[in-house]
Amino acid sequence: MSNNLLTAAYILASALFILSLGGLSDQETARKGNIYGIIGMLIAFIATALSLNLTAYPTLASVVIPGTVIGTIVASRVAMTSMPELVAILHSFVGAAAVLVGIANYLQQSLHISPVESTIHQIEIFVGVFIGAVTFTGSLIAFGKLRGIISSKPLLLPGRHFINLGIIAACVWLGVQFLATENGSGLQPLLIMSAIASVLGIHLVMAIGGADMPVVISMLNSYSGWAAAAAGFMLSNDLLIVTGALVGSSGAILSYIMCKAMNRSFISVILGGFGAETGAATIKGDEQHAGEVNVTTVEDTVELLHNAKSVIIVPGYGMAVAQAQHAVSQITKLLRDRGVDIRFGIHPVAGRMPGHMNVLLAEANVPYDIVLEMDEINSDFAKTDVVLVIGANDTVNPSALENPNSPIAGMPVLEVWQAGTVVVMKRSMASGYAGVENPLFYKNNTRMLFGDAKKNVDAIASKLGQMSEESVDLHLSTKVVLST
Ligand code: NDP
Repeated sequence: MSNNLLTAAYILASALFILSLGGLSDQETARKGNIYGIIGMLIAFIATALSLNLTAYPTLASVVIPGTVIGTIVASRVAMTSMPELVAILHSFVGAAAVLVGIANYLQQSLHISPVESTIHQIEIFVGVFIGAVTFTGSLIAFGKLRGIISSKPLLLPGRHFINLGIIAACVWLGVQFLATENGSGLQPLLIMSAIASVLGIHLVMAIGGADMPVVISMLNSYSGWAAAAAGFMLSNDLLIVTGALVGSSGAILSYIMCKAMNRSFISVILGGFGAETGAATIKGDEQHAGEVNVTTVEDTVELLHNAKSVIIVPGYGMAVAQAQHAVSQITKLLRDRGVDIRFGIHPVAGRMPGHMNVLLAEANVPYDIVLEMDEINSDFAKTDVVLVIGANDTVNPSALENPNSPIAGMPVLEVWQAGTVVVMKRSMASGYAGVENPLFYKNNTRMLFGDAKKNVDAIASKLGQMSEESVDLHLSTKVVLST
């Protein structure tokens, strides 16, 4: 393939990636955005493969074929609830690739470049390997935390900020040593830096706990983009630079949005729980609740819904675990048919990945126009008869607003307790991801409906369905009686 054709293919792929990001920013265009991304990636892959020498094909096939098979199997088997973990592990692959490409690139340096070009190239390699190593180990820890293999509680080592500063200073010093070397003799500082940058990745993510994890996920997403861009510089591949920059900057914007949604400072989160004594990363200040809870039943909940004029459903991680979204969609349809004003309230960090709830509700064909963001719906709870909280916990915790010592103090939450009655569906009194007790469960207007969300929502949907059929039958028989 000629260079001009390759450039044209890369420009087309870049344009498709930009269209893809644009599409993914809205639920209604998300599918289209996904398709643009797939086509862009196919064009990028085919163009790159065609630009290679025939002799490179066996090597290419030896990695692409197993990669495609493993990727297809893993992606087709992954449960929706495990998607965040899959994303985290994929970020770690990008980090590992940047480290390996950097080291291989250093070992295979071109002899035909000027000293200035060589210095620039060495800086690209050093920075790329640094970002790659932090991304690799940081993402592995994030994977462990999301999967529950590693505790979600923050590891707060004494003097942790000095440890981080010390590691960064050592990396800068090794960088200076690396640049001072000639003829490929800088492998030692490069490898030592990779090792200590890997420790930095572990330490940074271990120090972040509970409710701050969404920021870490989006931040690692951003790092993986910059790592890919750095690999693009090393390999002089323009498309990789563009794609990496798109992922890096969109991940950074997402991290900013997440921080704003959680009322956190970005710097304090990435520094690993800076100010954690009053912030999100400790559970020290958490109050222990002892009190009575009002337990309810499916029948009473159906009665409540039957008499309600306005209902808001607040889904959370538990709805994803239970896979209750289709039954929730059924309830929505039944209540809408009865003329109930029913809407959804979505917290920006509900679930375990950005947009988690929106994806599930879209999958279950819940109309987009009744799915509202937290800011759009928060003031409406006070005017609402019934709120159904389905598997949400941290995102509806009043202590975020009412208790300044709470680990989640300051995080905006869905103020469900302002409604007439709140029905909370979960299996037990267990806390959510942040490990914080929830005073909502003890409020006078709260009813706890214990059990698996899918089982309970199914039962509610079936009883509401029966009631609707009965009222249609009654309506028909009244008509018959009146007409005779
Ligand atoms: P939470 O994690 O706070 O709570 C989920 C609740 O669901 C649990 O209390 C659990 O209670 C219940 N649950 C679990 N399985 C079931 C089931 N089968 N049926 C019924 N209930 C069930 O969820 P939220 O969505 O409110 O909050 C998300 C949390 O995750 C936040 O702390 C957020 O910071 C964090 N996070 C979010 C990420 C994101 O990008 N969105 C990424 C990483 C972390 P029980 O066991 O009693 O049933």
